Amino acid sequence: MMSQTIGIIGGGQLGRMLAIAASRLNFHTVILEPLDDCPAAQLTNHQIVKAYDDPTGLAELAGLCDFVTYEFENVPVAAAERLAKDVPVYPPPKALEVAQDRLIEKQFINGCGIETARFHAVDSQADLESALQDFGGKGVLKTRRLGYDGKGQRIYRSPADNPRSGYDALGGVPLILESFVDFEREISIIAARSVDGTVACYDPAENVHRNGILHTSTLPARISDETAEAAREAAEKILAALNYVGVIGIEFFVLADGSLIANEIAPRVHNSGHWTEAACVISQFEQHIRAIAGLPLGDPARHSDCVMQNLIGDDVLDVPDWLRRPNVLVHLYGKTESRPGRKMGHITQLL
Ligand code: AMP
Repeated sequence: MMSQTIGIIGGGQLGRMLAIAASRLNFHTVILEPLDDCPAAQLTNHQIVKAYDDPTGLAELAGLCDFVTYEFENVPVAAAERLAKDVPVYPPPKALEVAQDRLIEKQFINGCGIETARFHAVDSQADLESALQDFGGKGVLKTRRLGYDGKGQRIYRSPADNPRSGYDALGGVPLILESFVDFEREISIIAARSVDGTVACYDPAENVHRNGILHTSTLPARISDETAEAAREAAEKILAALNYVGVIGIEFFVLADGSLIANEIAPRVHNSGHWTEAACVISQFEQHIRAIAGLPLGDPARHSDCVMQNLIGDDVLDVPDWLRRPNVLVHLYGKTESRPGRKMGHITQLL
């Protein structure tokens, strides 16, 4: 079988895990990433050390690859569109456009018939004050673009939280105020869609965040069958509306009555899907490679209950302990320097 080559934009741990999955199916990989010695560089066949929007880097990537994908949602849309003229780019660049701007994302999700928090665009301090008034003084103020892991956010928990300077404090950039969702728990679903439109969904995971960063994903989530089915249906609608190819992660809030409020979509493999490498035969990483390469999707069934825990910063010092425990898969990302808040690896414990 002739080996095909998959291009991956972005060289972080998700790119690294995609490169591993690709190599097991005999694909070569090329990473486009300006930082050398990035996690993916250690495991790829070739790295183009150029910016994500560098025209010569993009031309080289298109020339070397049969398909191109990406591992983060802030790939410049223009770069993805330019590449798509020469080589299939999956997921489609439209998914990037939707996921990069929280306002467009919420409008898109609502357009699919799926509920989100209520929201107002905030482009001035006056907008902020009238939006907060509409939501009874409570809400979550977020930058429309480039926010991740809870960065670029400010929470107003009660009308006593003074909105003064809220707009400037987040940098005077376009913002969105979301109504405060009084949720019971947070879940996410990882789903895949193939070129022929077949969809495969993993079971929803229950997620716990600490300091705005994912801490654990636990399977099964403590939700009813109806809620799990609603998450699957929402994923199917979103995938179809985007004519999507590849793996997507969708985060939801679960209310006390079991209904779902969609929060965010990530057009890529997702941290809350890392458990699939230990508790399913086919991981989200292999599923993504299969989807974009036009191979049959794998069975997303889960053979075990499990908990995935991120190793953030000095959590990595616990690795010797994790290695002594049975039924624990340790996965490290090749980062030599640990910093607070930095994702160094994760473990998945089968329960
Ligand atoms: P995000 O960056 O949108 O994923 O938000 C990070 C975390 O902040 C979420 O996982 C929630 O725990 C919390 N959060 C975000 N938006 C809201 C909201 N509208 N209401 C209540 N909590 C929220």
